[in-house]
Amino acid sequence: MMAFWCEHAWLGGEAVTPGVLLTVDGDRIAAIDTGVTRAPADAISLRGLTLPGLANVHSHAFHRALRGRTHDGGGTFWTWRDQMYADAAALTPDNYHRLARATFAEMAQAGVTVVGEFHYVHHQPDGRPYDDANAMADAVVAAAREAGLRLTLLDVVYLHGGLGPGGHLPLRPEQLRFSDGTVERWYEHFQALTGDDLVRIGAAVHSVRAVDPDAIEQVAAVAARSDAVLHAHVSEQPAENEQCVAVHGCSPTELLGRCGAVSPRFTAVHATHLTGADVALLGSGGAGVCVCPTTERDLADGIGPSVALVEAETILSVGSDSHAVIDLFEEARGVEMHQRLARLVRGNLAPRALLATATENGYRALGWTDGGRLEPGALADFVTVGLDSVRLAGTDAWSALGTAVFAATADDVHHVVVGGKVIVRDGRHVSIDVAGELRESIARLHEAAGSPT
Ligand SMILES: [Zn+2]
Repeated sequence: MMAFWCEHAWLGGEAVTPGVLLTVDGDRIAAIDTGVTRAPADAISLRGLTLPGLANVHSHAFHRALRGRTHDGGGTFWTWRDQMYADAAALTPDNYHRLARATFAEMAQAGVTVVGEFHYVHHQPDGRPYDDANAMADAVVAAAREAGLRLTLLDVVYLHGGLGPGGHLPLRPEQLRFSDGTVERWYEHFQALTGDDLVRIGAAVHSVRAVDPDAIEQVAAVAARSDAVLHAHVSEQPAENEQCVAVHGCSPTELLGRCGAVSPRFTAVHATHLTGADVALLGSGGAGVCVCPTTERDLADGIGPSVALVEAETILSVGSDSHAVIDLFEEARGVEMHQRLARLVRGNLAPRALLATATENGYRALGWTDGGRLEPGALADFVTVGLDSVRLAGTDAWSALGTAVFAATADDVHHVVVGGKVIVRDGRHVSIDVAGELRESIARLHEAAGSPT
């Protein structure tokens, strides 16, 4: 048994609770006592505001190497994608492991306790499998273990090079390493992946651009049979919708629905350009939607219908996706701020609803339904935001929730606990020099890619 005394903690309501003692047994919260005004002698003292652990639902770890390098000359989502492909081509199991380890450690230091890695760089650059077919997946799993956070490895089906007027396009050379050719061959390495206390395996459809309807149907069936979550990129760009309507006569969401993919296990990632019927379909299917506001604005994707999605009772979560920044507070407030600009209305989603997108809802989207809440029996994953930085000084119990959502940054995270283990103490990862490893792993990848440094 271990005890953590929280100066303030958010227990899920409209306000924070002062003086909370969390008793942890193994990897679970065993008891919560309130009204504990000072830290007992045997408790670890957590000054500031303690929140449930943050869930980063959508990540491509290697995109971290692109940060700051894609802004010259403007470009589009599609020119950004070409830069991303150049880095993807240079990945090896070794440099991928190093970069993912540093990126996950950056996430840990930002308060992320569970990440969903959307994993599709499966094979060698020419498309041949590695001798160990899961060499790249194993690199990601090892990276998460070493960084200390939970991982849902979303193993992605990717079969085609895009959608053209006549149907699916052949793979481009730089896409060969993403593809298994058939769902059967994807299933061979998917079923060989196993989870444990800190790792879950999920399935993913890259997008309706990269996967045809028959294959979507097969993957949805595999996810249901394996009791795995199922994710897909959906309608991030208008061009995807136009191509899908031209070829399939319906929107990407409708196509996923027809293929049996829309269910409570499903999370649509981005869901930026949806019709009213799409929103209703996701809501009636009990699906989730993961929005990635910092990436969506970085790539000029647009603003999705978050308020309508919540009104339709979809489960809204957030992800840092391309890691233009890694800051879940920025993602959560981005949901609300984008709605304010689009709708000219304040207060679309309350602070507690925004915090839920980054905690409980995200845990659910990644298949950890017993986490993301501070309550007895839940996973002992929590994050303490210091309230003493120049940004947050002056915060009291009354304003703490609003301050956490609307002003805190990743840099205000002081302590992070995953499964009862401290992984970040006083703002520093307990075992990884995060900045040093990022610097080194990014330089190595760019050297391998022949990118300007
Ligand atoms: Zn993505």
